[in-house]
Amino acid sequence: AKSSGRNHFQFYVASVDREIRERKQLEKDLNEALARNQLHLVYQPQVNLETRQTIGAEALLRWHHPKRGLIPPDQFIPLAELNGSIVAIGQWVLDQACWQAACWASAGLDIRMAVNLSAVQLRQDTIVDDILETLARHNLSPGRLELEVTETSFMSNLEDAVGKLHRLHDAGISLAVDDFGTGYSSLTYLKRMPVQHLKIDKQFVQDLLVNDDDTRIANTIIDLGRSLSMTVIAEGVESAEQEAYLRQRGCALGQGYYFSRPVPADEFAAFVAGFNAQ
Ligand code: C2E
Ligand code: CA
Ligand code: CA
Ligand code: CA
Repeated sequence: AKSSGRNHFQFYVASVDREIRERKQLEKDLNEALARNQLHLVYQPQVNLETRQTIGAEALLRWHHPKRGLIPPDQFIPLAELNGSIVAIGQWVLDQACWQAACWASAGLDIRMAVNLSAVQLRQDTIVDDILETLARHNLSPGRLELEVTETSFMSNLEDAVGKLHRLHDAGISLAVDDFGTGYSSLTYLKRMPVQHLKIDKQFVQDLLVNDDDTRIANTIIDLGRSLSMTVIAEGVESAEQEAYLRQRGCALGQGYYFSRPVPADEFAAFVAGFNAQ
């Protein structure tokens, strides 16, 4: 029993060791991903549930690792936030998304581009100027950009976040609270932030109509949005039943596989042309 215990311990140490090495390697690869053109964006439609028009796109990051294939953002963005590379990566995302939105605008596509902004990015002193400069460089109207921020962005330095979000809002950029209800939600924060959109996280939408608690949480967010004059977007809509429920309950916008998966830019444009023409 003793020796098998030691074997287990050695196995454990070896596997932790391997995990640390893999993580270090991934981190190193991530630092080179930008320069090596391994990152790209896909776009997911945001649909008006009443009219079925696509009014927006959320830009979502993808990493094609040369050896490991496609790595989902949940696996590398936390790492990029820890080592700070999210600042450069986030700027690249913003640049690429604004360029794409400007292309669509000049092709007559009336689409607002939603970009995820990490809490780490929002903490940078130059972030507001960087965003305004990016819009100007692409000649993109600020009204075409939406920034999705999470509640954790408000927590570390509330005054700083309030000030920056007000500057962005005053410039004409719209703001959405992402993953609403999953983090540390405070109505005090919400009241002080110039946000126009609340996003219901997909975890509450997934079991809508199956799980009473999730249904109540979704209802509460929809009602809260209405009473604060915010537009509510449901994320992760996968079925006709979920779509119908959300629409009847007064949720304005939806996003999810039921409408479309996140797709490359050309597919997105084709989707909008097909759907909005109907
Ligand atoms: P998020 O911002 O909450 O994005 C929604 C996620 O739900 C996306 O996952 C999207 O592909 C997925 N999704 C959309 N519709 C459905 C559906 O009907 N069913 C299911 N099961 N999932 C659906 P994705 O693309 O893997 O991104 C994961 C997270 O990574 C994002 O969550 C966001 O927090 C982060 N992320 C992605 N791109 C960026 C980026 O450019 N910058 C930053 N800072 N974070 C990003
Ligand atoms: Ca988002
Ligand atoms: Ca998220
Ligand atoms: Ca989410």
